[in-house]
This record gives sequence, structure tokens and C-alpha cells, in this order.
Amino acid sequence: MDCVFCRMIAGEEPASIVYEDEAVFAAMDIVQPGSHKVLVMPRRHVADIYELGEDEAGALFRTVPAIARGIKRATGCSGLNLLQSNGADAGQTVFHLHVHLFPRFSGDGIVFDWPGDFPARPELDRMAEEIARHLDA
Ligand SMILES: [Zn+2]
Repeated sequence: MDCVFCRMIAGEEPASIVYEDEAVFAAMDIVQPGSHKVLVMPRRHVADIYELGEDEAGALFRTVPAIARGIKRATGCSGLNLLQSNGADAGQTVFHLHVHLFPRFSGDGIVFDWPGDFPARPELDRMAEEIARHLDA
């Protein structure tokens, strides 16, 4: 498997490391270097969120608030977007699970419209029930 994130974690590829421990690796996104966007990922190659174990998820997400506070202090941003995308059709080119933390500034285009266009409550309830029915036992 040839994974640029695994090579970064192994020190075989340059990375601007924000944080790392035995389970988690966080570095600046090289694709959007001006964005102050940080990618947080498991050290182990996990292709996507469906493969992430609960302990690994705990290790990954416990680092997020501290990194978010660091981004806020460093950039003075007004907010933060947190997202994870799976698959080529989501624009992913590296298939090593990573969470994007990117600062949001007043007036920039990343701010979501609010209130947006939402389905009616019965439709939301139906979707919630359908997802709940399909959760892991
Ligand atoms: Zn990898």
C-alpha cells in the first residue's frame, strides 16, 4: 500500500507536524497551505471511518478540542469547521482516514447558510429511525 500519510507518519515525506502521540498524528494540510487547516489522523493506516475501532476513535477525537483551541489562538478565527470525507466522490485522493479542522472567518465562503433548507420534522424523524435501526448492535 502506498499512502502519503503513512509516509509522512514514518518521516519519509515532509510534514508540518502540529501534534503526535502513539496513536494520533496531526499535520498541516499541504493541499490548502494558506487555510491553516489541520488534518488529524490515526497513526495506523485506517482507510475510512467504517474501519475505525472505538478505542482508535477515542484516541483520535480526544485530541480535537486542544488542536481546535490551538488553531483559534494562532489564527484568531471566529469559528471552526470539522469534517471528515470518505471516498473519491467526496474529492478524497488519499485513503487514510483524516479529520479536517479548519478555521472559519467572518465573511468567508465556508460559513453555512443558517437557517438552511430542512426537511419537515416527520421526514427527519423517519431518517433518524432508519439510521438508528441500522446501528451496530
Ligand atoms: Zn496510510
